[in-house]
Amino acid sequence: MRDIFNNHDSAFVHRSTKELKQLVRLFRLLSNPRISKLGIKLMKRFGHIQLPGIQYLQRWLFRPFYAGTSLQACESTVVSLSNYGVHSYLNYAIEDSSAESEFDTNCEMVQKLITHAAKTNGIPFSVCKPTSFGHKHLFQKINARQSLNTEEQIAWKRVINRFRRCCQTAQEHGVALLVDAEEYSMQIATDQLVLDLMREFNLNKAVVYNTVQLYLVDGNRRLKQMHIQAIQDSFYLGVKLVRGAYMEKERKIAHKHGLSSPICASKAETDKSYHTAVDYCFKHLVNIAVVLGSHNEESMVQVINLMDQYEIKPNDDRVWFSQLLGMSDYISFVLADKGYNVVKFVPFGPVDKLIPYLARRAEENTAIAGQTSRELTRLQKELKRRATLANER
Ligand SMILES: Cc1cc2nc3c(=O)[nH]c(=O)nc-3n(C[C@H](O)[C@H](O)[C@H](O)COP(=O)(O)OP(=O)(O)OC[C@H]3O[C@@H](n4cnc5c(N)ncnc54)[C@H](O)[C@@H]3O)c2cc1C
Repeated sequence: MRDIFNNHDSAFVHRSTKELKQLVRLFRLLSNPRISKLGIKLMKRFGHIQLPGIQYLQRWLFRPFYAGTSLQACESTVVSLSNYGVHSYLNYAIEDSSAESEFDTNCEMVQKLITHAAKTNGIPFSVCKPTSFGHKHLFQKINARQSLNTEEQIAWKRVINRFRRCCQTAQEHGVALLVDAEEYSMQIATDQLVLDLMREFNLNKAVVYNTVQLYLVDGNRRLKQMHIQAIQDSFYLGVKLVRGAYMEKERKIAHKHGLSSPICASKAETDKSYHTAVDYCFKHLVNIAVVLGSHNEESMVQVINLMDQYEIKPNDDRVWFSQLLGMSDYISFVLADKGYNVVKFVPFGPVDKLIPYLARRAEENTAIAGQTSRELTRLQKELKRRATLANER
């Protein structure tokens, strides 16, 4: 299985040569730490400004990472992915909501996307973020075992109801709902909330999935605790396993409060923790369904070898691989080509609303040694391969 990702025929089938060249230019920019750091700063500061020049630049820079500005605009992306056996889940760009009316609108949007998924080929999942349904401070207070005042209790009930409405819609329409993980200071509260939803909606199969960030020192312990509850209360545990996207922020928060960091001390420890979690889930597929969110090629090779070892069929519907649109596309396409279940996270919405998401992608690409250069090398190899083929004809 070592060489699985060297199959270039299927790795970039969905990209025209023009698109590949654009991606090469983009990843070259991102691989320069100075330029990308400055770009991210400028984008965060001026990204919301609606000037034609800025908007053109944003479209050029970010087009590979989002599907368009509206739901209709996503159609061609979903179809082109599903033509190659790659599924999608759509996410409307929502960041930093604070008013109750915004939380309600976000909930309606998630429900709309679930019903849209049910009517469309190739969209088996939907997704939501805890802070798009309620204030972060509510999660943090519950997390810290502080009692809520009357107003907060009412607000928390509204948060639970928003989640319940989405799960209900997901269950009725046969779509699974992934709940993203955010900051560590909210995670125990999120776990409790999502486990309660699983108790209600995951009786016959996993409808709602929680996310476990394995860069957290306590990630595997929490995963096992959740599983024990699933066994005790006879429900299916749905989990999305990721390494975690807020490492630098978490370390800063911990440092500011004089606390020890909740993050593993090294990348190697995070990797070990991730694979321990994958192994645990694979051993307990009888009542666990898992989505593996990662762009790491070696890691995914390890995962498919493990599937092989445990005799888990590539198309076992309890195991899904997931990557973000425009990131490690070659992993998604090769895995789908080999019969594995693959689903792409496909964001859409007004570009100014997507800025925090896109900035995180850019930061991820610069902060993680190797990620950008891996993508770049793959893209360059494919361009070379196509040029050679053209010359031979
Ligand atoms: C489909 C999908 C869904 C996602 N959903 C979420 C989500 O809900 N919540 C969330 O937080 N993230 C989410 N992410 C992002 C994810 O957590 C990672 O940030 C991202 O995928 C990079 O990890 P990797 O496994 O792809 O790559 P890798 O390059 O193998 O890993 C990079 C990651 O390793 C960890 N790491 C890097 N350096 C160190 C270090 N020195 N010490 C300790 N750990 C280190 C960090 O987590 C870093 O992001 C999602 C990613 C995908 C693909």
